Amino acid sequence: MKHEYDVIIVGGGPGGSGTALHLKDSGLKVALLDKESFPRDKVCGDGVSGKSSVILKQLGLFDKMLELPHGPGYGVWLSSPKGVDFIVDIRDRKGKDAKPNGAVVRRYDFDNFLFREASSLENVDAFEGYTVFDLIKEGDQVVGVKARDKDGNVHEFYGKIVVGADGMNSIVANKIGQFEKDPDHYVVAVRGYYDGVEGMKEVIEIHFVEEALPGYFWIFPLEGKKANVGMGMLLRDVQKHKANLKDIMDKIIKEHPKFKDRFKNAKLISEIKGWGLPLGSKRRKGYDNGVLLVGDAASLIDPFTGEGIGNALLSSKLAAQVIKEAFEKKDFSKETLQRYDELLKEHLDPELKTMYRLQRLGSIKFLLNLFFDKLQKKPELQELVISTIISDDTLEYKKKLSDPIFLIKNLIL
Ligand SMILES: Cc1cc2nc3c(=O)[nH]c(=O)nc-3n(C[C@H](O)[C@H](O)[C@H](O)COP(=O)(O)OP(=O)(O)OC[C@H]3O[C@@H](n4cnc5c(N)ncnc54)[C@H](O)[C@@H]3O)c2cc1C
Repeated sequence: MKHEYDVIIVGGGPGGSGTALHLKDSGLKVALLDKESFPRDKVCGDGVSGKSSVILKQLGLFDKMLELPHGPGYGVWLSSPKGVDFIVDIRDRKGKDAKPNGAVVRRYDFDNFLFREASSLENVDAFEGYTVFDLIKEGDQVVGVKARDKDGNVHEFYGKIVVGADGMNSIVANKIGQFEKDPDHYVVAVRGYYDGVEGMKEVIEIHFVEEALPGYFWIFPLEGKKANVGMGMLLRDVQKHKANLKDIMDKIIKEHPKFKDRFKNAKLISEIKGWGLPLGSKRRKGYDNGVLLVGDAASLIDPFTGEGIGNALLSSKLAAQVIKEAFEKKDFSKETLQRYDELLKEHLDPELKTMYRLQRLGSIKFLLNLFFDKLQKKPELQELVISTIISDDTLEYKKKLSDPIFLIKNLIL
C-alpha cells in the first residue's frame, strides 16, 4: 500500500509528537507512525523538568498535562555520597502558593497525551502499530519509509522529509549510518514503581550514594506515597565493574541507612525494567538528504541529569522550523537541512558541553563530598545551585558551576 505525505515522522514519543505539534498550521500533511499503540509504557524517570515545561507552555499544553495523574515538582533534593542533603524547594522562595515548575508524570500517560494531541491535528494522520523497517531512497535522497502493520502488511509512506524520532534504537539513524553506542557517552538505567515510600517532599530526589557512583539513585514522587525509583550509570562503568544495576538498587533500598526506613513498608508495584540513554556529550549528525533526527535518535540526552524529554521537545521545535524553511525553499537536500545542525549547535551544544563537564566532575566522589560540605557553609554557592535549578534560563549558572576557577575558589579556598 502506498501513502503520500509531505512529512513522515517515525516514532510518536515526545520527539515525534512534538514535531507534529510544532507543524500545526504549517499546511503540511504529516504522517505520524509508531510501532506501538498508545498508551504504552516507556522506561523513564518520568521527570518533566522545567525545560520540558517551558516548551509545553509554548504549545499551550502544560496546564492540560497537569490534569494527568502526577506528582508536582517543586524542586530538587540532592544528597552527597557522605549523606549530606541539600533541598531546593521553590515554595521556600516564592511562598506556599508557588506553582510547580515541573512534574512527575508516568510516560504511559504523558506520551499518550502528547500523541493524542498531535493526532487530533487536522494536518496529521496517526498510524499506530506500524513498525518502520527501511527507508525508501531515490539515489542519495530519502523519499519515504517502509513499515509493517500488525497484520504483517507492508506499507510505503512517501514524503519529502523523514523525521527519525524513533528513540534509542533508531532505525532511521541506523539506515543513514548514524547509529553508535559509545560506552563513554551512553548510560544504562533501571526503573521500578513503588508504593508506600515514606518521607517524600514533592521534589525530585537525586542521591549520589556511594553504591550508585559514578551514577545516581533517584526517587521521583508520584501521587501519595507512590514513586518512580531508579538508578543509572555510564555503560563504560557498568562494563568495567560488571555492575548489576537491579541488584545495586535493591541493596540501596533494603540496606542503605538513608533509605531503608523510607522503603520499610514500600511495595514494588511494577517490574523493574532497564533501558539506555544516548547522551548528548556525543550527539549524532542529525540530518541527511531528506532526513532529520530528533530526541534520542539524535543522541541528545543531558549527560549529567539524564533528562531527555526536554531536549526531545526542543529538537522537535527546531526540526519543525527547518522543515518549514525547506518547504519554502522546495529543497530537501542535506545542504538545506544542515541548518538544523546549526540550530542544535546554537541552542543545545553550550548546555550539553557544560553538563558533560559537570558529569565528569560529579563522578569524582571526593569532589562531590567536598562540594556538598561547602554548600552547607557558603550562601553564595547555595544561591548558585538554587538558581541552576529554579531559574528560567539556567545555562549561565550551570556554566559557572562547572568552571574550574570558580570551583577552585569555592572548594579549596
Ligand atoms: C531509565 C530512564 C530514565 C529517564 N528519566 C528521564 C526523566 O526523568 N526525565 C527526562 O526528561 N528524561 C528521562 N529519560 C530520557 C527520556 O526517556 C528520553 O530522552 C525520551 O524518551 C526521548 O524521547 P524520544 O521521543 O526521542 O524517544 P522515545 O520516547 O523513546 O520514543 C520513540 C518512539 O519511537 C517508537 N519507535 C521505535 N522504533 C520504531 C520503529 N522502527 N517504527 C515505528 N516506531 C518506532 C517507539 O515505540 C517510541 O514510541 C530517561 C531515560 C531512561 C532510559
